[in-house]
Amino acid sequence: MLELPELINLSRQFNDTLLGKTIRTGSLGNSPHKFVWYNRSETEFMQLAQGKQVGHTRARGRWLFTPLDPGYVLVLGELGGKILFHAPGTKLPAKYHMHLEFEDGSLLTVAIQMWGAIELYETGKEQERQYIQGMRPTPLDAEFTLDYFSGLINALIPGEKRSVKGLLTQEQLIPGLGNSIAQDILFNARLHPRHPIDQLTATQTNDLYKAIQETVNTASAAGGRYDEVDLYGKPGGYVRLMDSKSAGKPCPQCGTTIEKMQYLGGACYFCPKCQE
Ligand SMILES: [Zn+2]
Repeated sequence: MLELPELINLSRQFNDTLLGKTIRTGSLGNSPHKFVWYNRSETEFMQLAQGKQVGHTRARGRWLFTPLDPGYVLVLGELGGKILFHAPGTKLPAKYHMHLEFEDGSLLTVAIQMWGAIELYETGKEQERQYIQGMRPTPLDAEFTLDYFSGLINALIPGEKRSVKGLLTQEQLIPGLGNSIAQDILFNARLHPRHPIDQLTATQTNDLYKAIQETVNTASAAGGRYDEVDLYGKPGGYVRLMDSKSAGKPCPQCGTTIEKMQYLGGACYFCPKCQE
């Protein structure tokens, strides 16, 4: 699944490559898929998209917002898969769930794996969509301060018991983070995935806050994770510290063998010595 670092990188690449292009034609794909969420029929989608010009894309949470001017916004989100640019003259990929062809002959395709949304809204209406409406501050937002973060944790403590992994991955409490980047954030913050949030010291809260921002920034500056591809089909340059390849290998900090456990809907990789 694409998480915030990959989406930040994609938004930059959209702005470098697609900004100002005019849509000539397109489709909602050649390969029906149960878990692709569309909000319009292909006919309606294409009638609205045709002749529109690509505006300035931004990433927020697990969503990409691309204005199709005038009047509309393309929303790609909660998705696993590939969002690819193709130079003029390139053949379309074998399977895809949306393609747009621009007046210069270049193409944008989206091929979903797992699931994902491909939706077109009148500008402003996208903010009423479930999961976008009421989205909490994301690590990129100015409101995501240490005070905000501490307040979020304090507000969650009286509710159900929650661990730091739960804080990072459940209910979009911190939109844009997912199971992949959360592993490295917890390693950088030296916190065990099961560490209860009601037992975080002020220093640990501060370390976790810093680790969220630093890990997201480092991964997005490197072009996203190495196990996802960017707009040009190139793997990201961010090699995860804690993933399936790390299990059984020595911790980069202390040399202790990295462990794997199943916890909260996915595998966790962690150093039993560094992370408490
Ligand atoms: Zn270690």
